[in-house]
Amino acid sequence: MINKVVAGTLPHMPKKLVWLISKRYVAGEHLNDAIKVIEQLNSNGIKGTVDLLGEFITTIDEADINKHRYIDIIRKLSKQKVDCSFSIKPTSFGLLINKERCYGFVREVLVYATLKGKFVRIDMEDSQCTSDEIELFLRLKDEFPKNVGLVFQAYMKRTYNDISNLLLQSHTEKAPLNFRLCKGIYVEPAYIAYKDFHQVRHHFLEDLDLMLKNGVYAAIATHDPFLVREAIDLINRYEVPKDKYEFQMLYGVAPSLRNEIVKAGHNMRVYVPFGKYWFGYCSRRIKENPKMVNDIVKALFVRG
Ligand SMILES: Cc1cc2nc3c(=O)[nH]c(=O)nc-3n(C[C@H](O)[C@H](O)[C@H](O)COP(=O)(O)OP(=O)(O)OC[C@H]3O[C@@H](n4cnc5c(N)ncnc54)[C@H](O)[C@@H]3O)c2cc1C
Repeated sequence: MINKVVAGTLPHMPKKLVWLISKRYVAGEHLNDAIKVIEQLNSNGIKGTVDLLGEFITTIDEADINKHRYIDIIRKLSKQKVDCSFSIKPTSFGLLINKERCYGFVREVLVYATLKGKFVRIDMEDSQCTSDEIELFLRLKDEFPKNVGLVFQAYMKRTYNDISNLLLQSHTEKAPLNFRLCKGIYVEPAYIAYKDFHQVRHHFLEDLDLMLKNGVYAAIATHDPFLVREAIDLINRYEVPKDKYEFQMLYGVAPSLRNEIVKAGHNMRVYVPFGKYWFGYCSRRIKENPKMVNDIVKALFVRG
């Protein structure tokens, strides 16, 4: 209850105060801030995936601008030789405005990324986008079999079937599917999404099992120590080689668990958001997941 109240008022607090709270989760406003963070991660054996924070867009011209921004980011990061991939949200490329134009923009990003040997993952957004984002992924996977990946959310009741269908449609030994699996961050209705914490965990492991035993590259995105332990059990059971999976975490979240995973010899990638629209990103995420407030409040009082 208190979390919900704090989450509700946070967006109305002075921006400077919210930045104090949020800076742990966002690299900064500029690309150079993201580069510094990734260099630091790389020096600890951790890879990055860069996300340019975008505001909700309303015109296709804004989507076009976002395309140019991403291409520029890929160009600059390739020059810097930092070890990172890229995460994109199709709605910032116009998915909800014009699907075909969105496909064209994301395709242009993929053309450039492929040229530079970079990987681009399509983040999964709320349920109104799920089918379109799967379709977008499938079209791009045909043309860029090794450079594009997708995200699945364990809380969505459709996810197991979606993964099963994609295994039949688009999974080959030469170009295996590459999926990030996460719990899911958006508030979805109970008729399409599991609401119970334990049920979500259960389905996360069911989906992960399906991915690992079929040779899908699995990006295991969680800060939940129970899921990390169970995932490692599955990896051991199926003797999954190191180049067939990785763990992923959000920048600033659960660094001690992250270090444990790295110390145990697993690959780790950290999601690094940056950009001037950090305020919207942080307020939205706090609203979407009031549990985060616990962590934020803790960060105000506990150092390290
Ligand atoms: C790399 C990565 C990419 C993601 N991509 C997507 C995506 O494309 N689509 C989507 O819907 N969701 C995405 N998510 C978010 C994900 O769906 C979950 O909402 C989030 O990771 C919390 O779930 P958890 O598995 O960490 O478990 P939880 O049980 O929620 O958290 C486990 C522990 O981690 C802490 N924690 C978790 N998240 C945060 C946070 N944000 N801030 C502070 N503390 C936190 C909690 O305090 C808790 O103790 C992504 C997550 C990661 C790590």
